[in-house]
Amino acid sequence: MKSAPLWLDAGALAGIEFPAGETVDADVAVVGGGLTGLSAAYHLAAARPGARVALLEADNLGGGASGRNTGMLGPGVGQSLPALAQRLGREPAAALYRSTLEAVSDVRSLCGREGIACDLQMTGQLLRARSRGDRRRLARQAALMAELELPFDGNILFEDLEALDLKVTADPRAIRDTYRQVVQEFVADMRKKCHDNSVDYQLISTATPLDRALASYLSWRE
Ligand SMILES: Cc1cc2nc3c(=O)[nH]c(=O)nc-3n(C[C@H](O)[C@H](O)[C@H](O)COP(=O)(O)OP(=O)(O)OC[C@H]3O[C@@H](n4cnc5c(N)ncnc54)[C@H](O)[C@@H]3O)c2cc1C
Repeated sequence: MKSAPLWLDAGALAGIEFPAGETVDADVAVVGGGLTGLSAAYHLAAARPGARVALLEADNLGGGASGRNTGMLGPGVGQSLPALAQRLGREPAAALYRSTLEAVSDVRSLCGREGIACDLQMTGQLLRARSRGDRRRLARQAALMAELELPFDGNILFEDLEALDLKVTADPRAIRDTYRQVVQEFVADMRKKCHDNSVDYQLISTATPLDRALASYLSWRE
């Protein structure tokens, strides 16, 4: 099982010399080569051509959370806009949310400008409720987004999709078929990526408790 980020295999850092133990003169030193430090150093160097910017990294670039994340580029700070508004006030929360929307489009432009081949796809974001509590939370979030004039596509309410007496206008089987197709394509893609990168894996059902799935995986490995 691989635990190192796949992009380190792609030779992204090949040929770059990292001086260690040397004294370096710089105008600004940025500590930490994760997304935050790399972004700060990049934007500083771009805004002030000629400025000597040193990036100090104790381990590897992307060696922390930045090298292990899911790679989803989306707006928002934390999970809940109402909680943010409660903490900061409505207007500051809205301003912060808007700046995260700008950050998403900045990253998109950055990828184009620098020719970063990261397979970025702008797919939109679907927030779904699995319980009545979730539904209440999403409804509160949608209402607040509407009040603060933040963009979203509105919410679609499907009632009791798993129950027999369905009261919906949409056809849940069509939704499930689409969902199943997307999952199958995703699984096929993951299988291929695992195969291409010699990653061993075992498919587990989400209905299987994690400890049992892990035990089955470990005995399969033996
Ligand atoms: C499993 C997981 C999934 C995630 N999924 C997503 C996602 O889909 N979308 C999203 O937007 N965010 C996601 N995140 C969050 C995101 O990855 C982090 O918010 C982000 O990477 C933080 O970046 P950072 O640069 O602040 O920290 P880090 O990436 O942790 O970088 C800090 C760096 O500083 C270095 N360092 C620390 N101390 C020193 C020192 N004294 N001297 C020199 N160097 C030092 C470390 O070695 C490290 O490389 C996810 C996080 C995790 C863990």
